[in-house]
Amino acid sequence: TVTIGVLALQGDVREHLTALADAGARGLPVRRPEELAEIDGLVIPGGESTTMSKLAVVFGMLEPLRAFVRAGRPVYGTCAGMIMVADKLLDARDDQETLGGIDMIVRRNAFGRQNESFEAAVEVAGIDGGPVEGVFIRAPWVESVGASVEVLATYGGHTVGVRQGNVLATSFHPELTGDHRIHGFFVDMVRAATPQEERA
Ligand code: GLN
Repeated sequence: TVTIGVLALQGDVREHLTALADAGARGLPVRRPEELAEIDGLVIPGGESTTMSKLAVVFGMLEPLRAFVRAGRPVYGTCAGMIMVADKLLDARDDQETLGGIDMIVRRNAFGRQNESFEAAVEVAGIDGGPVEGVFIRAPWVESVGASVEVLATYGGHTVGVRQGNVLATSFHPELTGDHRIHGFFVDMVRAATPQEERA
């Protein structure tokens, strides 16, 4: 099977580990650069992206994570994780670092404040069996994408799910529901990107 890390600097790490196990992968919390060599793919959880990016600097993870993305290794970001894989941000602090990976501009907190958080059914391209329950918590949306980015999901006219190559991102949190079809989709991406004999 494939081993998928969950970036464990901050955010809802445990929920992703559970969802990955449910989707048939081995999950591993990742905090140190050396641990990136032990995984076939990486999930960047929801949480708070300014804090996550500061901790990535403090833990010496920023450049190793950027290198991981640049090497074409599969990465899936949910909510704050989507912000982390954006090439550009709006409504972010000037010094907020991202890893990049998807040619898109992401607007932080675009759906409003914490108390405007909501759940909604979202159709996601490539996910069979009907819409997923999208949990949006102070969620970002994708303001615009480059030509090589695939839009997988929209809600209320805004892009909330995207993929470019091996990098996947959603504004919402499938790890907070019992429905782990999107994790299954990511596990398949990781399998496709990692030949059997090269798996961690
Ligand atoms: N608003 C948060 C941020 O900007 C993201 C919220 C979330 O991950 N649920 O980092």
